[in-house]
Parts: sequence; C-alpha cells; structure tokens
Amino acid sequence: MFDKILIANRGEIALRILRACKELGISTVAVHSTADADAMHVRLADESVCIGPPPSKDSYLNIPALLAACEITGADAVHPGYGFLSENARFAEILEEHNLRFIGPKSEHIRLMGDKIEAKRTAKKLGIPVVPGSDGGVGPEDDAMAIAREIGFPVLIKAAAGGGGRGMKVAQTEADLITAIQTAGSEAKSAFGDASVYMEKYLSRPRHIEIQVLGDGRGGAIHLGERDCSLQRRHQKVWEEGPSPVLDAAARAKIGGTCARAMQEMKYLGAGTVEFLYEDNEFYFIEMNTRIQVEHPVTEMITGIDLVLEQIRVAAGGDLPCRQDEITISGHAIECRVNAENPVTFRPSPGKITQYHPPGGLGVRIDSAVYQGYVIPPYYDSLVGKLIVHGKTRGECLMRLRRALDEMVVDGIETTLPLFRNLVREPGIIDGDYHIHWLEQYLAASEPAK
Ligand code: ADP
Repeated sequence: MFDKILIANRGEIALRILRACKELGISTVAVHSTADADAMHVRLADESVCIGPPPSKDSYLNIPALLAACEITGADAVHPGYGFLSENARFAEILEEHNLRFIGPKSEHIRLMGDKIEAKRTAKKLGIPVVPGSDGGVGPEDDAMAIAREIGFPVLIKAAAGGGGRGMKVAQTEADLITAIQTAGSEAKSAFGDASVYMEKYLSRPRHIEIQVLGDGRGGAIHLGERDCSLQRRHQKVWEEGPSPVLDAAARAKIGGTCARAMQEMKYLGAGTVEFLYEDNEFYFIEMNTRIQVEHPVTEMITGIDLVLEQIRVAAGGDLPCRQDEITISGHAIECRVNAENPVTFRPSPGKITQYHPPGGLGVRIDSAVYQGYVIPPYYDSLVGKLIVHGKTRGECLMRLRRALDEMVVDGIETTLPLFRNLVREPGIIDGDYHIHWLEQYLAASEPAK
C-alpha cells in the first residue's frame, strides 16, 4: 500500500479522496493555487504545497510544479480526481517515469478512450453496441453527405477529443451539414487543439445511462450497476440517480455483464464509466471515462462500496472488493449538483457564503468543501456541493430529497437549490419519465415572460 498520496485536485473531490486516504491510514498532501490557500482540503491534509497562481494552467495543470511537490513531500502516488489532469495520458506516463504511481488506468487505456473515434472502434470490437455513425472522422470535403444520408437526419457532429459537451453540433437537415461540421471542428480546435470530428445519428428522446466498472489490471473486472444521468443542461449533468427508473435487473445484468467482460479483456485498471444512450430498449455506447466521476456517490450509496478507496487499493496492486455475484443494489439514490449559479439564467455567482447549513438525517450525504465564510473563487467550476440522498425505494428517496433540499441553507451567493426544489415536485421527475432533452424543455417552458 502507498505511504503518502498527493491529491492533484481541489474542492469536494480533493476532500473526498482525503477521506478515503485517512480511512486507509495513508498520509495526504494537498496542493493548491494561491486562490485556494483557505480551502478545506488544504486545512485537512497532513501537508500542503502551493503550486502556483489562480489560473488552472499555472497551478492544477502545472505538471512540473506537481512533480516538485511530490519530490519535496516524498509522496509515492498521485490521485488526480476528476477534470484537470485525470484523463491526461502523458501525465500518467510522466509520473511512472518518476517512479510515482498514478491512481487511475494504464496510460494506454486513457489515451485510447480519450480519442472518441478510437474509443468507439474499440467498444465495437469488444462487443459493446455503439450509436450508428461514421466509422472514423469526417471532413467537409469527404463524403460526409453520403454518410449522413445513410444514417438519416438529424445527425450529430462530435469532436474526437470532446468533453464537457463542447464541439457538438446537430445538423437537422442536409442544408445544415457542412456548417455543423465546420463549426464543431473550429470549436474543437480552440477547446482541445484538435479539429477532428465524427458523425453520429442524433437520437431524439434517449436517456443517458452509464455503467460503473472497476478493474484490477490483471483481467479481473466487475460492474456496479448503472446511473441515470438524463437530466442535463447543455450536455452537462444536473441530477443523477441509480438505479435507472427504466431498467430492470435482467437488463442491468446484460449490459453490465457486457461492460465487465470488455474490461476483463482489456485488463482495465481502476474505476471507469462506460456511457450509453438508451432508447427503445437499446443501448448505444457514446464514450468511456477513465476516471472517478462527479456522480460516483450514487453508486456508493446503492452498493455500499467506497469507489475511491477501491481505486487506491487496485492502483497499489490489490484485489477487487468482491466478486460480481456479491454485489447487491439496494434501495435508490439521487444526487443533485448544487452550483453557485443563478437558478434561472445559470450565470456563475462566486462570492462569500454568509450562511451555510447542510441538511442531515438518515440517508442524507453532502460531498462539499465549503463552509460558512468561505469565498467561492471565480476561477474554477461553480460546484458548491453534491447533495446525495438514499432511500429504500425511489419514492422514499424523493420524499427524503424534498425534505433535505428544504433544509439546506446556502446564503450570500445564488445557487441552483431553488431549481432542485421545483424539480423534485415535478410530475415528470416523480414518475421518472424523462430523457436527455427534458430539462432544457422544462427550463424553456418555465422561463419568466419577458
Ligand atoms: P462529452 O464527452 O462532451 O460529455 P458525450 O459523448 O459524453 O460528450 O455526450 C454528452 C451528452 O450529449 C450525452 O449525455 C447526450 O445528452 C448528448 N449526446 C451525445 N451523443 C448524442 C447522440 N448521438 N444523440 C443525441 N444526444 C447525444
């Protein structure tokens, strides 16, 4: 096992990793930018190192500064969390070159899944069903039109290096196609430095359902069921739950088994998420994330397995926590991502939290790094915290979530709490009858009259 882990992240996920380390008796090193000197993860870590000024590129993405921090503190492993360097294959390699363990998959798997065209090809080879689309990249001068006609409009143009919903454009008809390819390409170029795009059939009312996997890197792999992340705004998840309101045990075992077998074949190491769109009882692979995800607590609440702790164990060469047949899904969990944003316009609202009262009680979990008097800096994402609620049934979970949301107080800044208080009382949500465009349609319909 590792003696000391450096946490190359900030906010709630840094705190989350720190908690797992403490339980395992591993010393922790926090790193922080000058804007985060007062952050909770810095206060709670055994040691901390300032790695640069506020902009991420100068601090949390600064590889030489992170290496220096490892050397100064004698850390033997690095946990990257999510975002920042978590899916940077080169970072994983550099750490290995310096005899430091990267807590995550092998770099070749990060690289493979980071290129979404290659990822889809691999998925197909491994027997995972994919969204109908182009086999490789498409360009305006290629026979894009022929491919689109074959798939059928509308089609979606997506960036090969995509992430965070950027570099994605829908072409409703033939007339939109070339513009969509060009716009997606230039957006991808400026966001990821890579203009390659590919084409997929645009599904009209799918759900986003993802399978959590865990591998030991030696051919052992299990799945931990699914999360339904269909409630999205601008392709960003807002509310996640598990199990999905539309899957039964047989459907779960089938798609989960397919994913677990694929991971066994790849000799995948660590935690990962295989993402699908689900429409008319069919699954269509869209991508795989080779890291811990924001919404991982949903799975933890229904399986009782600490995913971050298991990530650390398998990275150190340990075994998987259990066999597939020992995993039981119990009850229901929902996560709300509470952001520092105006609940109507979604404009970021950084600033000082003057009052903070997190809800509590049975089945209520808050993963957050804020406290009363904390100032949310304007430089990073706007997550205030994740409210995760568990119940024996979906109905009990919703009842408890309603109560927890009403109890939670975050004053001094605007947050998306009012949105969740409305959502949890919406018939479509209560019935679990929603799809990936539901939230945007709901928001458009509830926009105040101008
Ligand atoms: P990113 O890596 O940018 O998050 P994903 O491929 O994971 O991109 O897709 C993000 C979201 O975009 C999905 O959850 C879904 O809402 C939407 N999306 C992606 N592919 C399609 C598709 N073929 N049809 C309809 N919506 C899609």
